[in-house]
Amino acid sequence: MTSHTNKYQDFLRAKVKGALEEAKAASNLTHQGVKGTILEILISKLFRPLLPSDIGIGTGQIVEMYTGKTSTQIDIILYDKSILPPVLFDESTGIFPVEAVLYTIEVKTTLSKKDLRIAHESAKKLNSFSYLPGLENEDGTDKHHSIDKVKSVVFALNSTLTGNNLTEAERYKSIYYPDEFPYLISICVVGDAYWFNNGRVWIYHKGENEYDEVLSLIGGVSNTYKSVARSRNYPKLGKYIISTEGWGAGPTSRDFNGINVTCNMCGTESIQFPHFGMQSITINGFINIEEPCVCGGKLSSKEGSYKVVNGELAENYS
Ligand SMILES: [Zn+2]
Repeated sequence: MTSHTNKYQDFLRAKVKGALEEAKAASNLTHQGVKGTILEILISKLFRPLLPSDIGIGTGQIVEMYTGKTSTQIDIILYDKSILPPVLFDESTGIFPVEAVLYTIEVKTTLSKKDLRIAHESAKKLNSFSYLPGLENEDGTDKHHSIDKVKSVVFALNSTLTGNNLTEAERYKSIYYPDEFPYLISICVVGDAYWFNNGRVWIYHKGENEYDEVLSLIGGVSNTYKSVARSRNYPKLGKYIISTEGWGAGPTSRDFNGINVTCNMCGTESIQFPHFGMQSITINGFINIEEPCVCGGKLSSKEGSYKVVNGELAENYS
């Protein structure tokens, strides 16, 4: 049996093979920091060269704006460079606003049931994060819209399941079912299979060519990251940066002509500086202020004839 491949795929497969042989060789070492070495190899030789260049690749923690929730330490974070910049401690380690994160990948040398459970818990926590909306209504208020949440993946060089009758999907299902949801969207075990949840069924790919399962994971990310990024729209990154305390209003930037207004509910008098677009008109009657009084009442001027020049009350406006 021959299978259909193409030159592009053959070339990628050779790259995958080189990266994974190096990662496997590193995993046989026993010195401290082996995990770091493996991650470095996978990032620099597998994911960075094979994923589209507009996907940022880092490692670290993910944060959320509303409650300040922070994720566990995540091995590989795939993020959209155009949404929000991460704060990086070095070339790739840092803190990532959840709105920018597309995928997380937990890396294991030999995947055990305990590893799967820990990855599941980490993905579950991440699933509870809230996202800043990326759209606003015409009046500038937040517009609610649907978003694709971060997709959590497990990537393993090997598995403790080898030779077992159970599949990776069945083992994972024994962790989340029936009380929870499958927060992990896919599991890729090198030399075994790529599994992903299509929403109803765990689909697998056990290719007949070497590293087909890894190409499927990379292809899966390449196929979906744009739509995940698009669903986030344009969240305002400034909200992460700007402190909400210590703000106030100083003097007017130049002189404006104010007008005396009275509240129709509490009777409080104040001076207001209404805007009239850029028009030059004469208003006969009351001038009503758009913004209500603190009591909720309506603020209006005395009845009169008011002259407006270029959107502002003229000096001798009545
Ligand atoms: Zn009032």
